Amino acid sequence: MSIEPTVPIYILVFILGAAIGSFLNVVAYRLPKILFDKNYQLISDFLIEESGKRQRFLSGIKLLDKLLNRHDAAVLLEKQKILPVQGLWYLSKPQSSCPNCNHRIKFYENIPILGWLFLRGKCSGCHQKISMRYPLVEFLTGVLTVLVMGRLGFNVEGLFFAFFVWIIISLTLIDLEFRILPDELTNPMIWLGLILSYFGLISVPFKAAFLGAIIGYLSLWSINQIALLILKRDGIGAGDFKFLAMIGAWQGAGNLFNVILISSIAGAVVGIVVQNIRRQKGEQDDAIPYGPFLALGSMVVLLLNLNAESFFYLAR
Ligand SMILES: [Zn+2]
Repeated sequence: MSIEPTVPIYILVFILGAAIGSFLNVVAYRLPKILFDKNYQLISDFLIEESGKRQRFLSGIKLLDKLLNRHDAAVLLEKQKILPVQGLWYLSKPQSSCPNCNHRIKFYENIPILGWLFLRGKCSGCHQKISMRYPLVEFLTGVLTVLVMGRLGFNVEGLFFAFFVWIIISLTLIDLEFRILPDELTNPMIWLGLILSYFGLISVPFKAAFLGAIIGYLSLWSINQIALLILKRDGIGAGDFKFLAMIGAWQGAGNLFNVILISSIAGAVVGIVVQNIRRQKGEQDDAIPYGPFLALGSMVVLLLNLNAESFFYLAR
């Protein structure tokens, strides 16, 4: 069953997408905290064990500082003194409030995009600025939902791929801020892609989905093995392997080449620019998360309907 696309349908889908985007903001903000709560002992043990490896230890500490909202996680960790309040975060609890003054966000302030505009980007309690990021994510989610359903149709497959896009947006936000791509999102999505393809609920043939998951994982894994041999350190995180396996399971093995190509070119260009800006500002060099570029590659291939042949056509 497919619904004929009309202007009211597009508007409705945009509003639905923007509302989902509002929820994705919550997921990106809370999920890492929930996972940290659950794995607190494991993470702190791991960091103490890793303290010999400077680079890894420092990025771990940075993550910890962010999760705990402090700047002294390293000191606390050495004294074994970090005691997070367990079970504080759930996706649905506590009710959203201003992180600065704890002002409870009213329902009309929470309306996607419009709420932020109505507040002119400031908390109504303490006039602290509210990040542009929130309305931007809502807007972007609305637009991408319309584009993906416009391309695949307003049917079951379009809906499944809208869900795929929503998960990709959450992964991008989490990777940008926390430098992790949680297994809790990527692993079930690999399985879901394979199952949907097996039952013909998405139009990717099962063989392409199955090979996509395997090749997606192994391609980045092998690049990383080479990096380990030559550079003696990780070039790509294990989260990226699973993310590309997920993309492969949903978009098929044939599309992976373009996804990798687009993401590495975009990653290299942005990487060089960012490192230069950092150097000029005298800031420390830091790795750049690869997840957002994989997301970009996946979206370009999905929305422009690129496939292996169209790449060779462009290259000719
Ligand atoms: Zn406030």
